Amino acid sequence: MAAERIVVVGAGFAGLECVKRLEHKLRSEIDRGEIEVVVVSPHDYMLYLPLLPQVASGVITTQAVTVSLPRAVKRAHRLPGSVIGVDLERSTCVVRKISGDVVDLPYDRLVLAPGSVTRKFDIPGLDEHALGMKNLAEAAYLRDHVISQLELANASTDDAERAARCQFVVVGGGYAGTETAACLQLLTESALKRFPRLDPGLVRWTLVDIAPRLMPELGVRLGEQALDLLRRRGIEIKLETGVEEVTDEEVTLTDGTVLPTRTLVWTAGVTSSPLVKNLGVDLVRGRLKVGADLRLPSHERVFALGDCAAVPDLTQDDPEAICPPTAQHASRMATTAADNVVASLRGEALRRYKHHDLGLVVDLGGTQAVAHPLGVQLTGAVAQAVTRGYHVFALPLTRTRLRVIANWVLHLFGGDEFIRIGFLSGAKGTVEEFESADAYLSADEVRDRAQTSGTAPRR
Ligand SMILES: Cc1cc2nc3c(=O)[nH]c(=O)nc-3n(C[C@H](O)[C@H](O)[C@H](O)COP(=O)(O)OP(=O)(O)OC[C@H]3O[C@@H](n4cnc5c(N)ncnc54)[C@H](O)[C@@H]3O)c2cc1C
Repeated sequence: MAAERIVVVGAGFAGLECVKRLEHKLRSEIDRGEIEVVVVSPHDYMLYLPLLPQVASGVITTQAVTVSLPRAVKRAHRLPGSVIGVDLERSTCVVRKISGDVVDLPYDRLVLAPGSVTRKFDIPGLDEHALGMKNLAEAAYLRDHVISQLELANASTDDAERAARCQFVVVGGGYAGTETAACLQLLTESALKRFPRLDPGLVRWTLVDIAPRLMPELGVRLGEQALDLLRRRGIEIKLETGVEEVTDEEVTLTDGTVLPTRTLVWTAGVTSSPLVKNLGVDLVRGRLKVGADLRLPSHERVFALGDCAAVPDLTQDDPEAICPPTAQHASRMATTAADNVVASLRGEALRRYKHHDLGLVVDLGGTQAVAHPLGVQLTGAVAQAVTRGYHVFALPLTRTRLRVIANWVLHLFGGDEFIRIGFLSGAKGTVEEFESADAYLSADEVRDRAQTSGTAPRR
């Protein structure tokens, strides 16, 4: 008899944890060949996204924030590629392997965890100029880009060009944007010692958000404290302000301000992977509609979790509330999803996902941070200790933890390095380039493909 196949799409916080749990719970069945777990991932690593701002600012190296899949995945089969479409009627995923070959992958149970991509808006010039902070390449590119701007400014004799190259604009006052602006501002500040022709007043960071508060998830008091701290460090924060237009040489804000700059970092939210939008099933606020048991209401063999899914938040009184797209939720949903996949195979009752938020930690660079673990509000060095401790605890492998700690220690004693890798010197490095979504198939295209190839339904 053919083994029952569980396909997991994505190996991020949700996907990897789910695979590890499935391997644990189905160990004997997998070893006996009764069950096959296949994880489809374009990369051979899981990325610990919360430390990306520290990669962009050079505190941590790119490798240190990755978890090797060959090490972490023990029994599941790894398929290197992306799922570009799903035929839900025929229970088949269409996979584009990293070789470019497109193959069908039938499943008995499907777990969708492809995460999210940067949310963009219809703003003139955004596609051509906005840099993202959602994957490793973007973080590495941003670091190269910022250092190259300082170098070019240092080498220029044109005052206007020097000022524009030293002006950095970050859009998005959530934790990703705030941490990015805060960590990179410290890098540029310490770079001034190495670029003697740049005077300190020249380097300017502006953080822009349409919302009236910074990081509303932190609560009013802590949000205000973070705001004060960043303003004291010289970061200009413009709230209730959006972006009107972006060109090669300037960013125009909705309050009329024109900022001459060559750097626009775009972190104004995320939207679920284009894969889920093409499935032709119900969405809630752009994310896949699932029940509290993480199943698609219309397809009981399909589960979805993490950033791509609108999972009801059972800790709230509001029946419409859904869990926020955080790593904290994604990795905990993974346990419920894996347990429910196993329960559905065994004909047992499924359980509902419920998790009380443990709070947020925000690294503002150096010894500065804000955190509210379990409702306790912390700032300064204590918050930084809690923040780093949280990351060490949350990193999935011991060797990754050790690498991150070693990087922090090296940075503490060795300080910043201002080296551009230069590997993307010819590229523009935009969100459009790094998170291109053209490759996905629509539900109709997936159906047409099945008809022409004559794929038989798995069930
Ligand atoms: C800069 C930054 C800082 C953050 N800081 C925090 C924080 O401090 N705390 C917190 O809780 N959260 C934080 N988050 C949010 C958190 O990282 C996400 O909520 C979390 O990664 C979601 O997990 P996921 O598994 O759904 O998606 P991901 O972790 O993004 O994983 C999705 C995986 O699916 C793969 N994939 C995508 N498409 C396909 C496809 N078609 N086929 C196969 N595989 C695919 C991707 O390559 C990726 O490996 C931060 C995010 C960013 C960007």
